[in-house]
Amino acid sequence: MPGVKKRAIVADSRPPAKAGAIRQAAKAPRPLRGARFVAGVAQASQLPAEGAPEIAFAGRSNSGKSSAINALADHSGLAYASRTPGRTQQINFFALRGGALVADLPGYGYAAVAKTLKRDWQEFLWRYLTTRDNLVALVLLVDARRGLTDYDAAVLAAFVPSGRPVLILATKADKLGSAAQREALATIVEQLQGVLPIGAANVSAQLFSAATRLGVAQAETAIAAWLPGEAR
Ligand code: GDP
Repeated sequence: MPGVKKRAIVADSRPPAKAGAIRQAAKAPRPLRGARFVAGVAQASQLPAEGAPEIAFAGRSNSGKSSAINALADHSGLAYASRTPGRTQQINFFALRGGALVADLPGYGYAAVAKTLKRDWQEFLWRYLTTRDNLVALVLLVDARRGLTDYDAAVLAAFVPSGRPVLILATKADKLGSAAQREALATIVEQLQGVLPIGAANVSAQLFSAATRLGVAQAETAIAAWLPGEAR
């Protein structure tokens, strides 16, 4: 964006933990492990009572969101099982072992939705993202090869000013060689500098692959850090 200079983005471009960190990774928190589907919610009145901390997962359709949730939960069917045709326009809630909730938001850019339904839905989604008090953080799934879309940028612009943290997972990184992975992450960080308000902190980006589990432990550590001890 023109006229935009440096921002205090916490962009985590460290390579994901490798061999030397295996012992540490074994002890790493695994907040989504054992997650179970609790409810699909299509309107505000059905939302769970606010109480438990919630972490939202968002991203465009086909960004790899379901695969990422499944990889983090170590449960290959979890996010797909709740995604039956015709029920795509709902927030799927998963309960974590420690009592926190994951809110799997419907992928945006879903073409087969009537225009008015789409508008109503977007309004619900938008209100959820911007007004839900117990929503403590956002995980944004971005295909590493595509980078941030306009809608991703709009979601970030709406969410980040609240000061709540965002973790961007650059998905399907296994489809890129290591130089291209670095480049893809650098591009996302550059795009972030264009869309985040000056001084925005607590936004980090990392490589991720559900296929190879690249970045899974790193993401788990970040997610666990958002939750109070008893909710991990
Ligand atoms: P969603 O629509 O955002 O929930 O995306 P999905 O998780 O359903 O993934 C969309 C497509 O990308 C599917 O064909 C997945 O198999 C593929 N995919 C997802 N994650 C990965 C990954 O880490 N590596 C590769 N190679 N493909 C992936």
